[in-house]
Amino acid sequence: KSLIISVLVASKNFIMDNKFPGKDISSEDLKSKFPLVAKKNNNHRSTFEVAGAKFGEELITFAGPNMVESKELILDVAKNVKEIGANFLRGGAFKPLTFPYRNYKYTETREKGIKWLSEAKDKYNIPIITEVMEEKFIPLVAEVADIIQIGSRNMQNYPFLTACAKTQKPIMLKRHYGSSLRDWLGAAEYILFEGNEKVILCERGVSVPHTHRSTSRFLLDLQVVPAAKEVTHLPIVADPSHATFWRPWVRSMSLAGVAAGADGIMLEVHPDPENAAVDPLQPINYEEFRKLYPEMQNIYKKFWS
Ligand code: PEP
Ligand code: MN
Repeated sequence: KSLIISVLVASKNFIMDNKFPGKDISSEDLKSKFPLVAKKNNNHRSTFEVAGAKFGEELITFAGPNMVESKELILDVAKNVKEIGANFLRGGAFKPLTFPYRNYKYTETREKGIKWLSEAKDKYNIPIITEVMEEKFIPLVAEVADIIQIGSRNMQNYPFLTACAKTQKPIMLKRHYGSSLRDWLGAAEYILFEGNEKVILCERGVSVPHTHRSTSRFLLDLQVVPAAKEVTHLPIVADPSHATFWRPWVRSMSLAGVAAGADGIMLEVHPDPENAAVDPLQPINYEEFRKLYPEMQNIYKKFWS
């Protein structure tokens, strides 16, 4: 009998305050594993401004193609998403592509792409978020990007996180698709540890056996939005494009992301989605973005401001 009681007591303590390291977060983690990322009190929320966008105070949108395919494309997208209301132009010149084989359409534009992003930024007065994958390109990217994007695949590359953090540029840390919230926040702590406090988390879909469509590899984990907000003061953004990999689902998942409490939405927007060089099933077009933008803003205003 006493054995049963002690098992019950032990399991109650485990649930109330998980002292065992695992995928869940204990109160001890908040004190000793990620004290900088952890909320100092219940109402603690980071608000900060990047190029005029007030994170934590308004709904922030990031829009643009998957890849900076050409100068013409990125200038056209910059003009259109800026006019619709996007805060940031997104697009990768350095791309983590799953397989090493490239056809003519599928080639990273690298330094040239960064230059085109810079031209789009100057011409249309729109700030830039773009990914860097190698340490040697950090200075180049940091010169043009208003926010440095660290992709899912680099989420736990700790020396790389530290090197990006040292630029003192704002950083978006995308969640690895296999990462727990605990590991994700541990990675964010590496950035804050360098004195860089402008960190934005981005949920972009997790790997699970059931994704409801044979082409989708990921499931948008919107539950992580309120879960993160329970423990961290950092803003969190959702990326329904990468998560769903399927254009017809992007609108509903964007609206759900805002309803779930996301501080921003990252969207792939392309003038001709079917002919996008990378991931042509997921971008929405200008018309779809024009329709979705005010719908997202309305939900944010109704529930979160
Ligand atoms: C991207 O945003 O273009 C990207 C590659 O995202 P992720 O790292 O989430 O796959
Ligand atoms: Mn992409």
